[in-house]
Amino acid sequence: MRRRTFLTSSFSLAAGAGITLAGSFQASASGFSKSRKLVKLVEFTDSGQRKGIIEVEKVQKSDAEWREQLTPEQFEVARHAGTERAFTGKYWNNHEHGIYRCVCCGNVLFSSDTKFESHTGWPSFWEPIAKENVEDRVDTSYGAIRTEVRCAKCDAHLGHVFDDGPRPTGLRYCMNSASLDFIKS
Ligand SMILES: [Zn+2]
Repeated sequence: MRRRTFLTSSFSLAAGAGITLAGSFQASASGFSKSRKLVKLVEFTDSGQRKGIIEVEKVQKSDAEWREQLTPEQFEVARHAGTERAFTGKYWNNHEHGIYRCVCCGNVLFSSDTKFESHTGWPSFWEPIAKENVEDRVDTSYGAIRTEVRCAKCDAHLGHVFDDGPRPTGLRYCMNSASLDFIKS
């Protein structure tokens, strides 16, 4: 069940290069080459209302930049695919109404409308707020095959998705509080 956003738009580079690349292009400045990618996301208001689809550049920062912005725990979980200890995070027991944004880039990821009591000690949802806003990846670490969930805008590690969730999707998005920022509505 891989769900990735493939962009169909293409960009013609300036005359001289004469190359057309789909979805990404190379920008080279002062010898440092950074691949820039565009991604389509769904925007929401802080009260969870859908605003529409936008196309934005993926957020790419160095570890040093992320460290400056995040707490050590947020950095370890979101940027290095760590896992917070169960029942220790801010949101596993949060029952307030609102939305959950990515702690790294602000991308809206989940709504309290799909949060459920999983008894795991991690905030759990049966669906992301928009499928465009998250990416699934196969994770083979620790000798298991799991599906990792990442932020589609900045690639932050959010947690994993399992198929033992409640109806209507049967999915359990098992997230780390440390990767999320709750906005009460
Ligand atoms: Zn993000």
